Amino acid sequence: MRTITHWIGGKPASGTSTRTSPVWNPATGAQQAEVALAGVADVDAAVRTAAAAFETWSQSSLSQRTKTLFAFRELVNARTQELAEIISDEHGKVVSDARGEVQRGLEVVEFACGIPTLLKGEYSDQVSTGVDVFSFREPLGVCAGITPFNFPIMVPMWMHPVAIACGNTFVLKPSERDPSVSMLVAELWAEAGLPDGVFNVVHGDKEAVDALLDHPEVAAVSFVGSTPIARYIHERGSAGGKRAQALGGAKNHAVILPDAPLDYASDHLVAAAFGSAGERCMAISAAVAVGSAADDLVAAVSEKARAVKVGPGRDPDSEMGPIVTSAARDRIVGLIGSGEQQGATLAVDGRGLSVPGHENGFFVGPTVIDGVTMGMDVYREEIFGPVLSVVRADSVAEAIALINANPFGNGTAVFTSSGEAARRFQRGVNVGMIGINVPIPVPMAYYSFGGWKDSLFGDKHIHGPEGVSFYTRAKVVTSRWPRVESASGSSFHFPTAV
Ligand code: NAD
Repeated sequence: MRTITHWIGGKPASGTSTRTSPVWNPATGAQQAEVALAGVADVDAAVRTAAAAFETWSQSSLSQRTKTLFAFRELVNARTQELAEIISDEHGKVVSDARGEVQRGLEVVEFACGIPTLLKGEYSDQVSTGVDVFSFREPLGVCAGITPFNFPIMVPMWMHPVAIACGNTFVLKPSERDPSVSMLVAELWAEAGLPDGVFNVVHGDKEAVDALLDHPEVAAVSFVGSTPIARYIHERGSAGGKRAQALGGAKNHAVILPDAPLDYASDHLVAAAFGSAGERCMAISAAVAVGSAADDLVAAVSEKARAVKVGPGRDPDSEMGPIVTSAARDRIVGLIGSGEQQGATLAVDGRGLSVPGHENGFFVGPTVIDGVTMGMDVYREEIFGPVLSVVRADSVAEAIALINANPFGNGTAVFTSSGEAARRFQRGVNVGMIGINVPIPVPMAYYSFGGWKDSLFGDKHIHGPEGVSFYTRAKVVTSRWPRVESASGSSFHFPTAV
């Protein structure tokens, strides 16, 4: 059995803990590797290594950092297919989707290649006679990233390229469910010329996460994952005096107005609900059909859901792969059943799907549940599977109220041909990322990514300008260069500009 180790100080490291966790192939249901689970001593070794590397990396020139980032960008780009296949084998998503994930991560690397521009400070000449004021930003130290299974390369890339470009060093704790791709990323950083110890990977579970949260030499923690853990990370990290940003779960609604082009809207809804088997934080899991849109929409979406080709991620004909683990599959199946028991109608039922040749894979087919109401578990829970709930509303105002009553506020979308309705929607919803006739409104890397309410704890969104701000702190210098002969003695009043 292959063992996936940590990466500390520019090379693989077995660590001292003997705990491991199985890594599955979701398409076959077989265990394909085991991953080492770091203990407190292993995390300490990684953080100390990163702290030592910070001494020199934080002093590296912007030119050196930019060259390293450009080299890393080229290597990731050249190895996209290999990275995508590693992701597909452990996550289950289809390779074309995994390639898209690599591409979106790469866009953050490209953003970080512009770090000399992003770190420019401000300068005010002659704020008082003979006095200038200027500001610049400095790195924080060792930054930690704790990331979810669903985007094993893109979500870490929301963090480490920006943190490293800003002059920090980094310890990544990826999901233990699909850990391998982080090891290749570490190799590519090394090949790009990043000094040893600047980027480190520790695998693990709660024990490793707690060790990072409590380590005095970790300056900042970025987290992406489910809401209960996000809340915990933010509280415990902040209590330990660290900067903390923690992105949580989601329940993304798409509102379909009667004037929306039905074919267009249903195509996009199906892709947004079932792409990556619904295991995206920006997946659409609730379709809010307004007024007369409902019946035709359910019919169109159901027909398209039945046509989705479900199969192993490595099969180029597959449009949707399996669920990440059998436990996640069983939970999704249970939630679909609860919808039926609580009075909803299964327009398309994906339970019991069997993929020929992959009978033991963790598959669930696309599922459409009609007549869903706010009290049902399928509406209240983040299902994180290929399940689309259809809720009916009488007006745009009712749809907006429904969205605003939901505890999550990650993403939402509206389908309409009315600019007036779209504008009312974009101004009315308490949600961080909004799509207008765009179902998965993931901002480009030069904007920042983040939700509202229970979808984000902390006040900074991730990557983009807010990422640069999160991974740096400001210094403001007030400077005077007096002529020695003009010294005028001590003055004890509070300094004011003259
Ligand atoms: P998760 O919360 O189970 O795990 C995320 C990370 O936290 C992993 O590294 C895991 O090892 C660690 N972890 C798990 N339990 C822990 C505990 N008790 N204490 C400390 N650390 C713990 O999430 P997941 O299942 O890997 O990913 C899916 C979730 O992530 C969904 O809720 C999804 O919405 C969310 N997500 C959100 C965004 C976003 O941008 N808001 C993006 C991607 C995923």
